[in-house]
Amino acid sequence: MLRQHNLQPEQWPEWVSPYICLVINTGEHLVLVDTGADGLGPGTGKLLQNLKAEGIEPEDIDTVILTHGHPDHIGGNTDSEGRLTFPHARCFMWKDEWDFWTSGQAEAELDEHVKEVLLGYARKNLPPIHGQLDLVDRESEILPGIEAIAAPGHTPGQMALGVSSGGEQLLCVSDVVLHPIHLERPDWYAAIDFAPEQVQATRQRILTRAATDNALVLAFHFPFPGLGRVVPKAEGWQWQPSERVV
Ligand SMILES: [Zn+2]
Repeated sequence: MLRQHNLQPEQWPEWVSPYICLVINTGEHLVLVDTGADGLGPGTGKLLQNLKAEGIEPEDIDTVILTHGHPDHIGGNTDSEGRLTFPHARCFMWKDEWDFWTSGQAEAELDEHVKEVLLGYARKNLPPIHGQLDLVDRESEILPGIEAIAAPGHTPGQMALGVSSGGEQLLCVSDVVLHPIHLERPDWYAAIDFAPEQVQATRQRILTRAATDNALVLAFHFPFPGLGRVVPKAEGWQWQPSERVV
């Protein structure tokens, strides 16, 4: 299975993960989905220059949606001095997710091997947005055309997004799957997944929807740009990367 996906099991199978963010321009709102992995490894910290290349200044972003509280999704909420990177943005996060990271639950329940890194990022990047935060506790439209979808498992309150425009649909699955291999083996979970059984149930629900709707899918850690479609195959699904650049 690894060889089929160009990973060599004889060597320590190294997998270089992209850290993709998403900008949605609704015409009325400029929305950033996740704020990147600033400081997490080589090649990170490029979100602002990439936004600038698209003609977007941090002040232009009026909405930030955080799919979950891991370092590679909230790492750009604040700069090195702890100041807000997107000062004019209303922020959205699933309520269970916010509570997990800010109530002491993460400290009590996370595995030791990841705890310090994860908590360090959460402590730096979550409290500062509190004053501009809206918590989501049910599946509903966050903004016209942007639907919050419960996707727990990878973290306790991970949120996927359904984005619709002109009869087309983009399903942003965040980290419901971390590698295309997870479509073919939805029962294989990652060491970083918080609740493996919930991961599987969420994959069934979200990937079934993606395949049924023939939605364009965005997965944040798939080969860049992380866009493709999901088609049924055997017991699971298969990834069909999109040629289309949006
Ligand atoms: Zn991630």
